[in-house]
Amino acid sequence: MTTLYQEEQSESVSAQTGETLVEVDDLKTYYGSEGGLLGGKPVKAVDGVNFDVHRGETLGLVGESGCGKSTLGRTLMQLENATAGEVRYDGTDITTLSGSDLKQWRQNVQMVFQDPDSSLNGRMTVGEIIMEPLNVHNWKTPQERRQRVRELLDTVGLSEEHYYRYPFQFSGGQKQRVGIARALALEPDFIVLDEPVSALDVSVQAKVLNLLDDLQEEFGLTYLLIAHDLSVVEHICDRVAVMYLGNIMEIGPVDDIFDDPANPYTQSLLSAIPEPDPNAEKNRMTLRGTPPSPRDPPTGCVFSTRCPSKIRPEQYRDIDDDVWEGIEIFREVLRERGDVTKSVRERVRDLLGMETRGMDVEEVIDDAFGELDVPSDVQQHVDEAVEHVERDDLQSAQETLRDEFGSVCESEEPETLPVGDTGRTSRCHRHREEYESSQAYLTDHFQ
Ligand code: ADP
Ligand code: MG
Repeated sequence: MTTLYQEEQSESVSAQTGETLVEVDDLKTYYGSEGGLLGGKPVKAVDGVNFDVHRGETLGLVGESGCGKSTLGRTLMQLENATAGEVRYDGTDITTLSGSDLKQWRQNVQMVFQDPDSSLNGRMTVGEIIMEPLNVHNWKTPQERRQRVRELLDTVGLSEEHYYRYPFQFSGGQKQRVGIARALALEPDFIVLDEPVSALDVSVQAKVLNLLDDLQEEFGLTYLLIAHDLSVVEHICDRVAVMYLGNIMEIGPVDDIFDDPANPYTQSLLSAIPEPDPNAEKNRMTLRGTPPSPRDPPTGCVFSTRCPSKIRPEQYRDIDDDVWEGIEIFREVLRERGDVTKSVRERVRDLLGMETRGMDVEEVIDDAFGELDVPSDVQQHVDEAVEHVERDDLQSAQETLRDEFGSVCESEEPETLPVGDTGRTSRCHRHREEYESSQAYLTDHFQ
């Protein structure tokens, strides 16, 4: 981290020092890597992430549903086993801990879940729920535990009389306060908040967020805040990590990311936030297609199949944007049709929900290129691909288009590169010097 960045951090109320608490190093968490499902292809829920969490900060983690946020949070808590990589907590690799070492370490960390209804045991009183971690860790005497629970009720804005009540007697916001009290019981340093307010009414959300903010200050807590509501993140995080298909695409100070996103995925995600004023001029970008399956992520950059700023091959740099978009749409339709990871049920559902799947290839071409004036070299390769499709050879069709229109974005994994001097990094080939000249397209689209 640069000096400038640390200065900024020290000004922030919640980040007391720039010291690193958690270091995540090439972490991967795959599901089903033991084989079995679908020819043994594992779900690459987290696929090689690197980042630090600074002591005292709130690091936001955002990204579309299914991109791996909860899996990452759970792996940091050791509720999920890492497939590869390290998580160093205060310098110790916790992915190798077991038995009593693991149990002892667990006191330092806690998780608050999205849905208090499923995370609080309905058969236990609120007092018992909050006391559970104290019992598990054999904390002091039973009398001191009861006293501690009373204090905790007060800390989270509940009262002593709530001790003997059951979760069903509480509102959503109150239940989440119980979950927070339970998380605080053993005085952890680090808390993963997994969409802690998503299930709550907007008016209650603000109260719970304020409580979390106060608690952070009072107890010097460090938070990883998972959220899909970007406005929540913008208001309470010091830094933000943006995740897509198991990868962190961009991470940096919250103001940098919101005011001037560097990664095309962040740009797409932010442009999807509805403007408070519906008449406001904003160049909205809608992402093409659906996220690829984490069982079969794209080669090169994981965002390459949907990226509106994908680098084009040299000979197509100056091609009309709409023609290029047509090529991309055609390729996306083929990719979705050829998605071998989808079950028959998903295919049927998609067929009903998404016209392109049932479409005749001529219709797809018509939709993609319409009245556009398609240059003859493009037309020739598109025609060749169409012939393959007509012979039911999706793979050759995809290869033909890839050979002609593919670029570095599909063939090489992007490096994580620094952007500016505030400690921000982003994974995108466009940050490389040799591609800087091809920024024009990007700028046009995001102005
Ligand atoms: P997010 O929290 O961002 O919505 P998740 O971490 O829950 O994402 O899921 C990431 C991917 O891993 C998804 O494709 C999801 O279907 C898959 N996944 C999550 N949990 C499991 C599990 N226990 N077994 C198999 N796949 C899982
Ligand atoms: Mg989740």
